[in-house]
Parts: sequence; C-alpha cells; structure tokens
Amino acid sequence: MGSKKGASDESSVHRVWVSPFWMDGFEVIQEQFKKYQISDPSHFKNPKNPLEQMNWTDAARYCNERSLAEGLELCYDEETWDCNFDANGYRLPTEAEWEYACRAGTRTKYSFGNDVRKLKAYAWFAKNSSGRTHPVGQKKPNLWGLYDMHGNVAEWCNDFYSEDYYKKSPEKNPKGPATGQERVLRGGAWNWRADSCRSAYRASDPSIDDTCLASDTIGFRCVRRAPNEKSPEENMAKKNQAGRTSKTGFLYDDIYLKHKTTEGHPEAPQRLVAIVERLKAKGLHRQLFPLTPSPAPLEWLTTEHSPEYIERVRKSCEAGTRYLDSMDTPISPKSYEAALAAAGGVLTAIDAVMEGKITNAFCAIRPPGHHATKDKAMGFCIFNNVAVGTRYIQKKYNLPKILIVDWDVHHGNGTQAMFYDDPGVLYFSVHQYPFYPGTGSEAEKGSGKGLNYNINVPLPAGSGDGDYLRVFEEELKPAALAFSPDFVLISAGFDAHKDDLLGGMEVTAQGFAQLTQVVKGMAEKCCKGRLVSVLEGGYHPEGLSASVEAHIRVLMR
Ligand SMILES: [Zn+2]
Repeated sequence: MGSKKGASDESSVHRVWVSPFWMDGFEVIQEQFKKYQISDPSHFKNPKNPLEQMNWTDAARYCNERSLAEGLELCYDEETWDCNFDANGYRLPTEAEWEYACRAGTRTKYSFGNDVRKLKAYAWFAKNSSGRTHPVGQKKPNLWGLYDMHGNVAEWCNDFYSEDYYKKSPEKNPKGPATGQERVLRGGAWNWRADSCRSAYRASDPSIDDTCLASDTIGFRCVRRAPNEKSPEENMAKKNQAGRTSKTGFLYDDIYLKHKTTEGHPEAPQRLVAIVERLKAKGLHRQLFPLTPSPAPLEWLTTEHSPEYIERVRKSCEAGTRYLDSMDTPISPKSYEAALAAAGGVLTAIDAVMEGKITNAFCAIRPPGHHATKDKAMGFCIFNNVAVGTRYIQKKYNLPKILIVDWDVHHGNGTQAMFYDDPGVLYFSVHQYPFYPGTGSEAEKGSGKGLNYNINVPLPAGSGDGDYLRVFEEELKPAALAFSPDFVLISAGFDAHKDDLLGGMEVTAQGFAQLTQVVKGMAEKCCKGRLVSVLEGGYHPEGLSASVEAHIRVLMR
C-alpha cells in the first residue's frame, strides 16, 4: 500500500495482508439501492449510474439490507455502526482491501501502469466525464475484472480516516483507527483530477451522519468475507432458518375490514388492504410470523373502559346506529366485533412476544385507538388498543414499566388521560400542534406521582424527517433510557407522512424507518427488544403502506 511520490498520508509504502474476500465488480447502482426502499439521493439520476450523494451510514445500512435479503449475517450494528468482520454478510471494504483490489497485483501509480494518458480508457474523471457520472462498467476493468476503481464516484471504505495510520498500522488486516470524525474515500470521481484517481490516493469526508448528505461524487461498493469450504452449507442452513422463523410477528384478520365507516371516510378498510397487498408484493409477508387476534376479554377491556361504555358500543352496533358519540366516528353492525379484535390483537401480539415466539410485532388493526377515552369514542377510535395492552403487560406479566411512543400526527388524548397520574407508564407523543384534538401542549406533563411521565413534543405543520429524528434523539432517547422500560409499545400512526390526507407533516417512509430504528434500539437496550407496534392513523394508501413496509423492515433486522 501507499506511494512514495504521493502525499504524506500515503506513506510509508508497505506490505499488508488481507484475508480472502469477495468484492463487487461494480459500484452499487441506483436501481439496486431502490430495491431496499432506501430513498435514492443521487443527483445524476439513471438506474445504471452509480449512487452518489451517499452518506456513509446509508451505505452501511444498504449492506445490512442486502445481507438480510440474502439470508446472511448482518455486519453492522445499527446503533453504533460498529462492523462485525466475522459476519458473512455485506460490508464496506477496509481501506487495505480496497487498495489491494484496485492494484490487482500492481505497484504502479494506476492499476494499468504509470502512464496517465491511458487513464481515459479506465476512468471517468475531470478530463472526460462531461461533468457527470456515467453508467458503471463502460470503461476497461482492472486486471482482476473490477470496473470503475479509478473515477466515476469516490467509494466509501469502512475505516475512519487518520493521516498517519499507516505509519504504525498492523500488517495483518488493518482496519483503520478505532474512532474518528471522517471516513476514508478511495478511487477518485468524475470531477477529480487524474492524480486523485491513483491507486494510493486517500481522501476523507465527514458525512457519516444520517442527516448529512454527501456530495454528488460519493458512492460505494460492497465486500463480503470469502466463504470457506464449509460456508455454502452454513449459509444454506442459515437461509433456511431465516425462511422458517422470523423474529417479527404480523397481526391481521379480515374482521378488521368489516368495520365500515361512511362513503369517502379516510379511515377505510382499504387502508389495511393496501398494507397487506404491499407486504405480499414485496415478499415480506411470508417472512413474518403470522398472528391472528382473539377478541379482547371484557376483564381486560374494563381495565381502561367503563362497562357502561363497552355495553353502549355493543348495543349501538347491534342497533345499526351510524355514529358513535360524534360524527367523526362512524360505525357499522360489525364494528363492535372488529373493535374487540383490535384490542384483542394487541394482547395476542404481546403474548407472542412474552412467550418468546417473536421479539417484536406489528399489528395491522382498525379501528384505531389512541383518541378513545374511558367512556367515549372519538376521532375514529372506539377502544384504546394500546392502553388496554399496557395494563395487560403490567398485570398479566408483572412488568411494571411500559413506554408508549406515539408518533401519530394527532395527539393521543385518550392514552394521555388514562395514564396521566401513573409513573409506571411513560407516554411520549410527538404530534402536529395546534391540531386535532386540541390537547398535547408541552405543559401537559402528568400529575401527582405521574408528573413528568407524560411528555408531549408539539411540532408545527411542515416538520419533516430531520425534525422528528432530532426529537427522538434529543428528547425521547434520554427520557426513555432513564425510565428503562420493561416493554415498549408504539402507537404507530403514519398520518405524519408527507402525502397524508389529514396531516400536514413531511415525514417520508425512510423517516419512519429511522424513527423505528431509534425506538427498537431502546427496546434492545432496556428490555431485550420487546416491542409491539400498533397501527393508529395513516390515510394515504400508498404513503401508509410504504411507511409500514419501511417500519417492518427495520423491526425484522
Ligand atoms: Zn392520527
């Protein structure tokens, strides 16, 4: 590695050993990336062009998604972004691996020799790129058949950058310094000069954060540990195992479609149809552990609702009443049955987690629940599914501390009211404000022993992924870790999606994936990952189903 004639950070010239590995022949292209529903940030759009505008974290996340899809072990811990080099999945190359692969046995300036005039045959760079990236694989490969190792887009390596690392690095499998601010980039890009496309040229970039976009010159390719002789069987075994059992449950039943609202009402059966169809189309449905609800027993329903109210719901449905309590909660004859199954579904999912069948679950249920109060239907909600689930966990499983994260665009007034003076339940809601139902100001912090166990983060209309993620990192995380829950429930409304018909927020499906990751990370830290996510709102069928898919993909990792 290195070059005597290059910059000081390329010295010394030295020999390193790297264990056998496989490397992609091409830089990762835009159509590959889209497959995993990570939003493509590239500036020069073309399915065959390399990705660019790529931050390091999303490159690593892609590696994990690709591993997951192929039944391989994940290399990256998505909390710390530490890399497990023993895992057999995809990761970014170390700098040493990258240079070894680029050189393909050569010691010259470029993989084809020292003559810079030949560079145009091998690379897209400042002199011949016409100011943009190009589809991969159009130039000559190096001696080992790897394309675009010089030029097109600069490629992320796994290593943190340090100027003098190679003056004292280990000889065997050097992996860069343990910590740092910037990651290594290799290989030059379409707007770089010839000298910066050399095999030994080192660059770096600080864009290692989710929220920080890289420039349109930065992409990547993946490597994998070379499978040893036993590995194919080992991999097959793992793949089969992954196909048979999943750690994520999916709760659904057609009974939920029988709760009919009024013509043109946004809370329509079609919402769940769109979710199930999308999961099937994406091949995710069969990877999930199927869960079927039982109706919630009255003994559990009455922990949060008055017997008079429950009876009123039953009779109103039976009598064919059109609305329950207000015009915004239409009902139909089967609504009582569906509402019992919605609350019961949450209990079924909780049981499956507690019995160790799964680690987490998503409940695709309706009617939703978080506006429902002790004795009143409200805002499309009949029974408060998450609240009933909360008491169930506390009483049946003797787990005292429950965290409820409510990211529905509306404030969960019902849930807040039910646990307002309860220090055993940390209710955290982020929502559009001022907005329906009118509650949810920062000043509502809980009362009595429950003071400070109710956290509202009202956000103005127009808030997006960055705003939500900041709230989760800066407000939810410290509060939740201090609380250290025994179980985590999500009131997962997806009506903060940018296309939603009711909400005025700008959250994307990828944004919901990031929020999921934060909550899941906390569940893993505090309570062995025990988490049940329960559908609340979300009224744009495409936006809703894309968000649920992104959400579930993170739960499955
Ligand atoms: Zn809502």
